[in-house]
Amino acid sequence: MTEEKKDKRKKAKKSGPKRSERRFVPIASTNPWIVRGLGALGGLVLGAGLFAYFYATGEGHTFGPEATDKVKAIPSYLIAGGAVIMGICIWLGTSSESPIRVGDPGIAVEKGETRRMPWWLVEKITWQPGALALVVTGKDENLRDWTFKVPVASHPEAVGWIVSEAQRRIKKKVDIEKGVLKKLPAAAEHAGTKIDLEPLQVVGKKCAASGKTISYEPDARVCPQCERVYFKRSVPNKCKCGASIGHLRPSTVAAPEDVIEEEENEEDEREEEHEEEAAESEAKERASEDAET
Ligand SMILES: [Zn+2]
Repeated sequence: MTEEKKDKRKKAKKSGPKRSERRFVPIASTNPWIVRGLGALGGLVLGAGLFAYFYATGEGHTFGPEATDKVKAIPSYLIAGGAVIMGICIWLGTSSESPIRVGDPGIAVEKGETRRMPWWLVEKITWQPGALALVVTGKDENLRDWTFKVPVASHPEAVGWIVSEAQRRIKKKVDIEKGVLKKLPAAAEHAGTKIDLEPLQVVGKKCAASGKTISYEPDARVCPQCERVYFKRSVPNKCKCGASIGHLRPSTVAAPEDVIEEEENEEDEREEEHEEEAAESEAKERASEDAET
């Protein structure tokens, strides 16, 4: 190998593909001006009620001893009403959803600590029409089963990014009707807050092909599409996610013999579809022939 080539390699390794993700903060589904208006109104009513209750009940005041019982009750109603309005305001103004992160490492939910589902551990992404939410099923980084929902009302941008990233990285796991997909929000270029990340921690992870535990960082190769980790000599030509990663294997090492098959064979599926179509058209032809005779 010439010096030039070596240099190039080093550079490629150092600059490498950078990892990043986007952080999406949930939005309250209520118009913020309604929330502000309600907050102001609640404050006024509560204040008036408290004032009337504590200061305007003396002799000669509106709610004094000579007032009728009906009038005397007004301050308590004001306080109760004001409290209720404040309660509604707080309820409308806050979202119970957690911030969501979408990017190279997968999809993460910030609930207390950040729990993350790498792309390669996503089993399926579906759409729940009743809840108007994406349902993501799979395993988290600790290989525990995990299902979470991302409602489009509080997380429109995250939904857009999850769908677009998933279609690019793990298309076969996205199980959403085309009609629904069209209606979902798009992945806006400047949505969310972009966060740059450190390279994936690979030491201690198991090679997705050989099962060997990575103990020395330079031995590892990471699929840029799904972040599966491979031992450098066991890198297959094609990752289980479908990405071509043969170039990550040292050029002196031949492709491993037991090539990993993709989890589902797309071509087979297509063939099956064609066969079904052919069978259908044949049946139609026969039916029309029968009708003619
Ligand atoms: Zn992959």
